[in-house]
Amino acid sequence: MNVSRRAALRPFGMKVYYKSGAFVAYKDTMLTFDAAEDCSGKSLRCITHAHADHTTKVNESNLLMTAETHELLRALRCLEYHASILEFGKAVEVGSVRIRAVNAGHILGSCQYVVECDDGALLFSGDINVHDTLVTKAAEPAHADFMIVEATYGSPFFVFPDREIIYSKIVRWICDCLRDGNVPAFKTYLIGKSQEVIKLVNEYLGIPVIVNESVAKACEVYKKFGLNLSYFCKNTAAGKELLRSGECVYVSNHRTDIPVDRRVKWAIATGWALRYRFDFYDAAFPLSSHTDFKGLINHVETCMPNTVYTMHGYSELLAKVLERRGFVASALESAETFIPFVYGRG
Ligand SMILES: [Zn+2]
Repeated sequence: MNVSRRAALRPFGMKVYYKSGAFVAYKDTMLTFDAAEDCSGKSLRCITHAHADHTTKVNESNLLMTAETHELLRALRCLEYHASILEFGKAVEVGSVRIRAVNAGHILGSCQYVVECDDGALLFSGDINVHDTLVTKAAEPAHADFMIVEATYGSPFFVFPDREIIYSKIVRWICDCLRDGNVPAFKTYLIGKSQEVIKLVNEYLGIPVIVNESVAKACEVYKKFGLNLSYFCKNTAAGKELLRSGECVYVSNHRTDIPVDRRVKWAIATGWALRYRFDFYDAAFPLSSHTDFKGLINHVETCMPNTVYTMHGYSELLAKVLERRGFVASALESAETFIPFVYGRG
C-alpha cells in the first residue's frame, strides 16, 4: 500500500459502493453504472455499453448512454424508452457533477465515464480493450483521482497473444475447414465478436459470410456508424444458396443446426479459451473484446489515479497487484453495500 498517497487524501464527500453495479453519490446527485437495480429510485443510470449483462432492466427511465449504444439496444431489444444521449468528447451537467464519455474500445459505442465535481474526478472504465481491433479503436486513457476498473481478466494467467497472431490462426483454421469439405462456423457474442470475425473474413479471405438474423441486426447498426461489413443473412435467397454451396463462413450467436449438405466445424472465440477447454467445439480461439491482465495494469498506470477500485472477475487479485505497484486499491464488491471511501484531493 502506498501510505504517502493515502495520506495525501482528505474527505470531499463522494461515496462509492457496489450493489449489482457501481453506485456513486455526490451531494444531491446519485449515479449508477451498469447496475441491475436502482436502490434509490432516483439515480441517473449510466450505461457503458450494449452487452446484455450491463443492460439489465434497461427499459426503466432516467438512462444515459452513447448514441451507438442506444441504436444497438433499440435494434436488438425492440424497446421503446427514453434515454439521454452523451456524445463522445462532450460533457453533460447532472446535478452537482459533470459527466464525460470516453472511448472504452470494447464494442461499438462502449464508453468510460469521467465524473467531475468541485473536489475531484472519478473514472468508471467499465469493460475495456486497450488495443485496436479490426472493428474498434483502443480505449483512451483519462486522468482521474479515483478509478473503478473491471477485472474480468485481472489475473497474470490471462496475457493474450498478439491479435494478429490470433487472426492468422483463425484464417488458417477456416482455410483448413474449407479444404477438407467442412463449413467453418463461429459461435460468437452478438455484439462485437461477431462483427470482428466477419470483418476478419472480409479483409483477409474474401469468402462470403452468412449470419443469423440477430447478428444481421447488430451488423446493421455497425454499418450505420460507418463500419463496412459484407455478409448475407441465412434466410435470404443468396444466403441459402451460399450455404448450399458450402463455400462460406457461418457466424451466429447461437450454436444451432445450419442447412448445409456438408459437415460443419464449430469454433468459439473467447478470452476464456486461454484457460479452459471447449471440448464441444472443434476449435477455440482466445479472441476477446476485453483487455488482458497487462492491458488492465497499463490502463490504470496511464490514467494515474490515486485510488483504484476493481470489480468483476479477478477483482481481489488485481487490487493486490495494483497495491504492490503503488496504488491504493481494493475490490469494490467486497465493500458490500455502503461507502468504502470518502476521500478527496489534498
Ligand atoms: Zn461487455
